Amino acid sequence: MRLVVDWDGTVTVQDSLVQVIHEFGDAGLLAELEPRVGVDLTLHEEIALEFAAITAPLDDVVAWVLQHVQVRPGLRELAALRPTVVSAGFHELIEPVLVREGVELDVLANRVEARPDGWVVRFRDETACATCGEPCKRAGVAGGPYAYVGDGYSDRCAALAAERVFARDSLATHLDGLGVAYEPFDDLGDVARALG
Ligand SMILES: [Mg+2]
Ligand SMILES: [Zn+2]
Repeated sequence: MRLVVDWDGTVTVQDSLVQVIHEFGDAGLLAELEPRVGVDLTLHEEIALEFAAITAPLDDVVAWVLQHVQVRPGLRELAALRPTVVSAGFHELIEPVLVREGVELDVLANRVEARPDGWVVRFRDETACATCGEPCKRAGVAGGPYAYVGDGYSDRCAALAAERVFARDSLATHLDGLGVAYEPFDDLGDVARALG
């Protein structure tokens, strides 16, 4: 069975997009927009607006990310299972962390153009999902059974289509509310051992 893993808050300890917004963007805008996702904004719209408020050079942000973004223990054990990372974030901020950690993984993510007048997000797929009504990860991971590992809003729809779900944080709360079974996890070694 394929293994599909979210990046922010799942592989990483904290959501690195949130960390970057706090350091280089507008935390007030994040606080204002985040509660509106799924109400009158799609996740993509939220991300696009928040990163448009960032004007720092990409190299500066990548250097900061490499210094501050931590991954959960067990990434190497998980990497041995050849997971695909599916992220609402950006290749530009994920790949350097993988290199730092010495692991190679397939990554399905968006791209960002770090313009000095505001970052422009290039979304991998902007097609609205037939199930949840907004662009989401489900279509990208379709095509055979998979186990899904995630923590947040971006994982909801794809997790519901998985054979087996590992969840933490707000994804776990969401699944609790729906009465959907999942396996809790704390570090990535837990997941690797459960699947290995
Ligand atoms: Mg996440
Ligand atoms: Zn969906």
